[in-house]
Amino acid sequence: MIKLYNSLTRRLEEFIPIDNDNVRMYVCGPTVYDRPHIGNARPAVIFDVLYRLLKYKYKKVTYIRNITDIDDKIYKASKEKHINIKTLTDETTKLYHSDMSLLNVLPVSVEPHATEHIPEIIEFIHKIIASGYAYEANGHVYFDTGRFDKYGQLSNVNERISGARIKISENKRNNADFVLWKPSDDSFPVGWNSPWGKGRPGWHIECSAMSYKYLGEQFDIHGGGCDLIFPHHENEIAQSYSANSKIPAKYWIHNGHVTVNGTKMSKSLSNFYTVNELLAEFPGEAIRLALLMTHYRSPIDFTKNLLIEAKNILNRWYTAIKNTNNCGNDIDEKVLNALYSDLNTPMAIARLSDIVNCINRGQTELIPTFINTTRSLLGLLYVEPKKWFKTTEGLALDEKYINGEIAKRTQAKQNKNYALADEIRKKLLESGIVLEDTLTGTQWKRL
Ligand SMILES: [Zn+2]
Repeated sequence: MIKLYNSLTRRLEEFIPIDNDNVRMYVCGPTVYDRPHIGNARPAVIFDVLYRLLKYKYKKVTYIRNITDIDDKIYKASKEKHINIKTLTDETTKLYHSDMSLLNVLPVSVEPHATEHIPEIIEFIHKIIASGYAYEANGHVYFDTGRFDKYGQLSNVNERISGARIKISENKRNNADFVLWKPSDDSFPVGWNSPWGKGRPGWHIECSAMSYKYLGEQFDIHGGGCDLIFPHHENEIAQSYSANSKIPAKYWIHNGHVTVNGTKMSKSLSNFYTVNELLAEFPGEAIRLALLMTHYRSPIDFTKNLLIEAKNILNRWYTAIKNTNNCGNDIDEKVLNALYSDLNTPMAIARLSDIVNCINRGQTELIPTFINTTRSLLGLLYVEPKKWFKTTEGLALDEKYINGEIAKRTQAKQNKNYALADEIRKKLLESGIVLEDTLTGTQWKRL
């Protein structure tokens, strides 16, 4: 039995799908204007593990993760970088895909783009207006939070609203009303025609319209980072409920936030890590494991020490299986139960390390189940052990260069120039390459 913590009921609940033959999950994806950072990677990896777990247990899982390609941050970045908007969003989407695939995040079932769903978004706004929960004012359409008495049920945010009664916009009826459609004047770089004039949708409405299109009025899981609980997910519930009289998802799952070296990530501080920067120093698998070593609901403080720790764990795991790549079909029950228990990845990782201890004590029969469990459920150990120790992924050096340096060192030794030989060994070590002199020549592996 899978148990998940539901942010909507604030309880740990048994997961019972609406349709056993097709489990449906929607996760809010990235706004595409910049390279993904470690805060973007956390939900991608967490929900990838949940996706793998659901796929293991159920026949079919439909997983939707959107691409937000309508956002004022995009237009600002396009202007600053002097890049065409479409080029910027296309290129950033590509970078997101390539960085996430290096973290072994599986592709999702459908990845809808907001710009490709304007008719659906307009249609959804129409439904909300028709049901009496939205109003038009000066080319804007607002959701009327004053009419929706369930507003605040997910985030418990009513107190916050009552504390801020200042009317911030002339057009709004209530301070908490949020925009479904806003006007784009002629000088604005994007705009679509609508019954309310030329404009563009607000952010929240895209997820309501696209989740409805691909998953229907009600689906199983809606996920994202905890910073999305308010206002984004609260507003999605308000929109979808007023259009369809149903809360769009049964289970609302949120991962905790990411800090770096103890503080909130900020581009102005020196603690902003893009996934790409980290991949230059660490293999994707170490980044993935580092993100899974903390329970998904807890905040995570991301440091390079955490990555070194993750890499050492992987070195131990790969060492234990280095003479085989025999992946079985069985799944370790204890790892499975840890994941069934609100996706307890730290417990699953501890169990996997226990299995490694047993393998090291001679229980090599555990290897096939160990590999299969780790690979299929956690998305780790996906390279051949030999490749892991030799991989140049995440290194500034390529294999040709390393082999060239080894040849130079061998020559230096033959010439009895031990100072040069030592210097080459030291230089490679500084770049994360360890040399081992064996009877058959010099071998290299990663530190
Ligand atoms: Zn969303």
